[in-house]
Amino acid sequence: MKTRYIFVAGGVMSSVGKGIAVASIGKILQSKGFRVSAVKIDPYINVDAGTMNPLEHGEVFVAQDGTESDQDIGNYERFLDQNLSSQNYMTTGKVYLSVINRERNLEYGGRCVEVVPDIPQEVISRIQAAAKKDKADFVIVEIGGTAGEYQNLLFLEAARMMKLKYPKDVVFALVSYLPIPAMVGEMKTKPTQSAVRNLNEAGIQPDIIIARSELPVDEPRKRKISIFCSVRLEDVISAPDVKTVYQVPLQFEKENLGNKILKKFGMQARKSKLASLQGLMKIIARKKKPVRIGIVGKYFETGDFTLMDSYISVIESIEHASWAHNKDPVITWLSAEAYEKDRGSLEELKRFDGIIVPGGFGNRGVEGKMRAIEYCRKRKIPYLGLCLGMQLMVIEFARNLCKIQGAMSREFDAKAKHAVIDVMPDQKALLKERHYGGTMRLGSYACRIKRGTLAWDAYGRESISERHRHRYEVNNEYRERLEKHGMVMSGVNPERNLVEIAELKNHPFFLGTQFHPEFQSRPLKPHPLFREFIAAAIKAR
Ligand code: GLN
Repeated sequence: MKTRYIFVAGGVMSSVGKGIAVASIGKILQSKGFRVSAVKIDPYINVDAGTMNPLEHGEVFVAQDGTESDQDIGNYERFLDQNLSSQNYMTTGKVYLSVINRERNLEYGGRCVEVVPDIPQEVISRIQAAAKKDKADFVIVEIGGTAGEYQNLLFLEAARMMKLKYPKDVVFALVSYLPIPAMVGEMKTKPTQSAVRNLNEAGIQPDIIIARSELPVDEPRKRKISIFCSVRLEDVISAPDVKTVYQVPLQFEKENLGNKILKKFGMQARKSKLASLQGLMKIIARKKKPVRIGIVGKYFETGDFTLMDSYISVIESIEHASWAHNKDPVITWLSAEAYEKDRGSLEELKRFDGIIVPGGFGNRGVEGKMRAIEYCRKRKIPYLGLCLGMQLMVIEFARNLCKIQGAMSREFDAKAKHAVIDVMPDQKALLKERHYGGTMRLGSYACRIKRGTLAWDAYGRESISERHRHRYEVNNEYRERLEKHGMVMSGVNPERNLVEIAELKNHPFFLGTQFHPEFQSRPLKPHPLFREFIAAAIKAR
């Protein structure tokens, strides 16, 4: 079967669920027996998402091959239960960089290289490469940003060029937002009308409009959108807010979106098989007892608002595991800096069934996090440390139990006398010259699990593979001392003998991972470590 392409653009504003719409369309088509792929285009100059502040751009997701992307790749992976890689993600920076490199290598044969058509052409080749890699019947391409802004014009241009070349194989969808202003009390369609006009200016007419709003879109407003936006009435899809993102494919199917898309391509209708999602919805909807998890972090306060996007995969993993245990996760954000100002505030940790310290960079809040970790260790509160959360657990242990005074991570003190967390020698030279790109351990690495440990109980096998994103490691020079005082290195990388999992005995659950297990949790296949952490949290109540 030839490959068909669905381009998804956004209208009115960001964060209305374009990524979830792409993932859901993919899920629906996959459930109809097609092979799908998804591509995210981020209109940033940053070559990879790794250099973007999570407070501004949300979580940096890491694929198996080490690609650092935005959180949408994580959504696609979770919905499609499919691993993606570098071909599935591009930024303006990546695209320009490869065109410029090619030009410098004289690969354009000396001709004048121009923004149009050479940049969109590069975008098209990348989309086609993803199609080929995933052997896709359908590729769903998410164009980041919103219609009418400057930054994504060249990507819309790529979509337009593809439509010109393969008119029967390209469909456009617009995910737009319909506000219901409180002072009016009515759903307004005008912003969507302008969004469509903006797309029209770029030479694109949407075939389908996914109308996101707080409430379902009623008939009169569907009609209005249809007339003013020149889209058939049946192709205006009502997409009201739902309780969980996993309901979105089911919501879309209520409007028969999957078969409407097939019809656009001149294909026959097919039945969708979404029973497993329906099963998940039943579990989520059930009345369940809560399991209370506190996350001690720092990437969630922006001005007057609290955003959770920086930790989306961690939240997802907690949810998947809690649902598997028939519990309702209640997640609370705890500020590490508060524990630095006032030790007494640590007492709030008592209220939780389990505590997580997630990944992070830079020294803001690390002393507070270590106080929280110490509290969990002493009070036997189940604890899961992810990457930085594991490094801090090792430092706290080194300081307070091995009595290594001034134990630190090289990240926070370049001159530390006892860097129990340190850079690998091969990274040192690069870091000296400020070559930060390329100094991280990124992507999947093998790990060997030790029998008779918490980690073994969770995985139940010796050889596993997990995704990494960090620059620093447990310093093997201190390993013996740590082990002598009772820290168990229950997971080790076999090639380089690096500590991947550390844990303590005589505690209901106290474990940290150098890798990020949260990137591999799937809604119906919770990650084993999260599953066991939540089990311990439920038990500890
Ligand atoms: N900052 C730490 C490092 O680079 C931890 C990174 C993380 O938590 N992802 O090693």
